[in-house]
Amino acid sequence: MRKINNERHMEIETSASNLDILRELNKRDALDEELTKELKRVEAKNRGLKTVLNHLNHLGKNHWVYMTNVSLDSYNIFTCDLLLMTSTHLYPLEINHYDGLFEFKKELSLLNGKEPDQLPIESAQCVATLINAFSTIRSINLDVKGAAIFPSSTNQIRIYDEVPEIEIVGADQLDAFIKQMIRDEKNRNSDEKIDPRYIRWLREIDQQQPIWTIHISDEMKEHIHPGIACRACNGFDVTIGKEFVSCPCGKYEPLEEAIVRTICEYGVLNYEKSLYPPDLHLFFDNQISMEQIETCLAKHFSLVG
Ligand SMILES: [Zn+2]
Repeated sequence: MRKINNERHMEIETSASNLDILRELNKRDALDEELTKELKRVEAKNRGLKTVLNHLNHLGKNHWVYMTNVSLDSYNIFTCDLLLMTSTHLYPLEINHYDGLFEFKKELSLLNGKEPDQLPIESAQCVATLINAFSTIRSINLDVKGAAIFPSSTNQIRIYDEVPEIEIVGADQLDAFIKQMIRDEKNRNSDEKIDPRYIRWLREIDQQQPIWTIHISDEMKEHIHPGIACRACNGFDVTIGKEFVSCPCGKYEPLEEAIVRTICEYGVLNYEKSLYPPDLHLFFDNQISMEQIETCLAKHFSLVG
């Protein structure tokens, strides 16, 4: 399988993602309640996506292509977690990595008895409908089959009503679902070639949304724990020596590496700013001298502007 990236995806891969920012804020004790939930949600999505991609890479066909994190603009922004294209079908997949019991009864989603923050069945239906409309308008002659996938092995699923338009796929049905994709393709006498025009369409379908949607409020900024954190345990109880940073957990890290790493962490939290030595000096909380910071910047970072 081949991953398709457009410019927006490339930029996310080479700079900080929303998840990087949330993790850094979490490490530095600055997350508010709402963003703590968002971190959990994004981490779970990420785990689920990895699981689904592992199965697809193992069982899927080499000529299949896919795009992750596809933003679809239709009055509102909808995100398709994974959009897979075979030579005959398009599979918009909504991925939900849950623990415990998920139920869908009388058009109501319940996760362990409570309404989840996001509605997995409705999102999957909505994204499948949009992909169907977008592909029809552009004469993309592929059948659209949407699914809500629940790849966590610790997640039981009970669906009481009929769910139109999409399939519901639990962890133990994932492989059978992928094998069905292979049969779907075979049944249409496919020559296993994907029309290059369709791949261009796939690249264009993702709308250029802002890369960062995490807003770091001034209050959160005030709470950000400054200084070098241990590379292994993320603790701040480190001792800065002449050549090494050491932590009670037993981890030693060369000082220069720790400085570069922490400058990068500052960059993640201040993605819209450039690296200005006095700001960094504050961020290091006087652990590192201004000269050391400037030497490190000159050696490891390139000057812009
Ligand atoms: Zn440590």
